[in-house]
Amino acid sequence: MKNQEHILIIGAGLCGSLLALRMAQRGYRVTLMEKRPDLRKEVIDSGRSINLAFSDRGMKGLRLAGLEEKVLPLCIPMRGRMIHSADGQLFMSPYSGRSYEYINSISREDLNVMLLDECEKMPEITMLFNQRCTGVTLETAEATFEDYHTKEIKSYQADVVMGADGVGSALRKSMLDHRKFLFSYGQDFLTHGYKELSFPPLGNGGYQVEKNALHIWPRGKDMMIALPNLDGSFTVTLFLSWEEGKDSFESLNSDAAVTDYFEREFPDALALMPDLLEEFKTNPTSPLGTIKCSPWHAYGKVLLLGDAAHGIVPFYGQGMNSAFEDIFVLDRYIDKHEGDWKAIFKAYQDERKEDTDAIADLAVDNFHEMKAHTARPIFQEKRKLEIA
Ligand code: FAD
Repeated sequence: MKNQEHILIIGAGLCGSLLALRMAQRGYRVTLMEKRPDLRKEVIDSGRSINLAFSDRGMKGLRLAGLEEKVLPLCIPMRGRMIHSADGQLFMSPYSGRSYEYINSISREDLNVMLLDECEKMPEITMLFNQRCTGVTLETAEATFEDYHTKEIKSYQADVVMGADGVGSALRKSMLDHRKFLFSYGQDFLTHGYKELSFPPLGNGGYQVEKNALHIWPRGKDMMIALPNLDGSFTVTLFLSWEEGKDSFESLNSDAAVTDYFEREFPDALALMPDLLEEFKTNPTSPLGTIKCSPWHAYGKVLLLGDAAHGIVPFYGQGMNSAFEDIFVLDRYIDKHEGDWKAIFKAYQDERKEDTDAIADLAVDNFHEMKAHTARPIFQEKRKLEIA
């Protein structure tokens, strides 16, 4: 074994589990700590999107870890955007003229389970669940955790701590509170939140609408999208304003108001949603925001990756994909500077920050594009010409 340095990774979500696997493949000793239960053993409500658009950017990270063949059976190709106009018409707007260029729909849970199963096979990785990180001592790479059941507090010493603990990152908070170097941090919420709903499968397991498309109902100020799942269902996401006034999450506060809104805005979808009223009441309404911070590292001892470093709104479907690409880029700098974490982290951020800032801004722009411009006749005309 060429390398026995100890890397402690906070968060066994999509980024943390792939990161753990790749670091173990490189020969590091890895401890992967997760605040939730093991999702392979307990049903947990992640509170996050059920399925995701998975693109070539993300595939680079999985390919690096030798997982391309394992992930493909979990993917449903989406070859274009299927636009459901207000007057009930459908337009397919392909992502590319080339048949091999498309994005995939993938289940967050299936993907995370596959990654955790791969981690389990590596003797270099120790996985501990129900462990919530409460803080990190940056200079010494010592991280403290609280056990969910016993409430016992325990500290773990590592050579390096990597925070893949998502938008609410405990490591990022420790960096913000540290006050011995300048740490920039900004969080911008969108005017709109989201709620997940569904189209159930047909009785024979088939799909109620075109399977190989990302469906969009652009309505100017609001929008709904649907991505296919392997079982024939679709996960439907409604993006709606938080603000007071007509057609906001605040105003849709009764069965009658919800039904009236869907009858006006999404009548074709309403016909496919037998559980709409129940789901609307039960499923959470969540905010969307952008997080930018800098630096992502300190003392050659700690590093932020994935949403912990760069939380973005989902309108380019690139949050997870960027998190996987983080691992791909980090791996290249480990090749170059192995043994010098300060140099690795600096080179990594120097390359990566500009790109993640750009996708964060593009994602906000695409929110406006998707909810409004895709509904414009000129856009549809242009796309029809492209298809022809
Ligand atoms: P997370 O997935 O948030 O994982 C963080 C992990 O850390 C979790 O398991 C959490 O339990 C754990 N954790 C948190 N705090 C602690 C702590 N204190 N101690 C220990 N563990 C902790 N991205 C795409 O690429 N394509 C899409 O189509 C897409 N759609 C999206 C739709 C919606 C509605 C949303 C909200 C996001 C979407 N994203 C999409 C973004 C994507 O979900 C994230 O970018 C991705 O999950 C980031 O992975 P991560 O591992 O960095 O963070």
